[in-house]
Order: sequence, then structure tokens, then C-alpha cells
Amino acid sequence: MAKYDPKSKNNTCVFCEIVAGRIPANIYWQDDEFMAFLSIDPNTEGFSCVIPKKHYGSDVMKMPDDVLQRFIIAAKKVAGVLERYFEDVGRVGVIMEGTGIDHAHIKLSPMHGTGYMKKGEWKQILSGKEFWFPKYEGWISSGGGPMADGEKLKLLGENLKKISD
Ligand SMILES: [Zn+2]
Repeated sequence: MAKYDPKSKNNTCVFCEIVAGRIPANIYWQDDEFMAFLSIDPNTEGFSCVIPKKHYGSDVMKMPDDVLQRFIIAAKKVAGVLERYFEDVGRVGVIMEGTGIDHAHIKLSPMHGTGYMKKGEWKQILSGKEFWFPKYEGWISSGGGPMADGEKLKLLGENLKKISD
């Protein structure tokens, strides 16, 4: 088997190969429908992927409602595993982006340094950085950007409301 390169544009579905057991992965949770494994290129310890065993395209917001509901609940269970394992993790960030591999996946990012949240404490943590993305660059940020123009925001909100169900 060729060495698996997560950055390659190979057309075979890597996640389906993991489900089939043809590509090894550090799978640590699964049920009949979903599984979770450690990312091989994590940006923090314990960074994980939760995937459906059946192939769905990577736009999670287009999944059938009932599958998506169970998928989110699976991710919740996996987040619980990460919080139980890492003493300093009281919250797990959830990312559904899907531009690296075209098989539905939820990325779970253990938020190290938030262990106090296990005791029900909450405190504001801001990055202190501002980003603005005129176009998608292969990653999304949960942080804020510069303060928006209030009138432009109001107009955008009104326009969105016009086409909302
Ligand atoms: Zn697949």
C-alpha cells in the first residue's frame, strides 16, 4: 500500500478505507454507525475525527436530518471521552468544515487549559487576535474580526431575513 499522505489529492476515500480497515487509524470509539480516531496531523493533543461508517459527502449540513442528529450525538459521546481522559480539558471545540477529505467528518479539538470548566466554572477567553477572510483559505477561525459597520450588518440581516423560512 502506498504511504498515506493526508495532503494528497488522491481520489480514493481515505475515511472509507479506514472504515474498511485497509488504512490503519487509532480508532478509540465506535458504535454501529460512527467511529472516532485520532488525527494523524493534530494541532493539539487528542485532536480527533468522528465519521459515519457509511460514506456521506463532506457537507455535513446536507446530511439527512436523522443521520445528522445521531452524528452529533456520537460526537458528544466522543467529546466526553476526551474530557474524561484529559484532566486539563473541560470543553471540546467542534468543527464541521469538510474541505480536506470528502467524507462527512466532525473534528473535535480538546481545549487544553479549560479543565476548570468540569466544575461548572466559565470564564471568557478571547484570542486577542483579529482575522478577516475575504475568501476561504482552507481553515476557519472561531475568533472574531474587526468590528463591523453597524448599518451594513443591519442591511445584511434584513436581506437574510427576507429569504429565511
Ligand atoms: Zn468515504
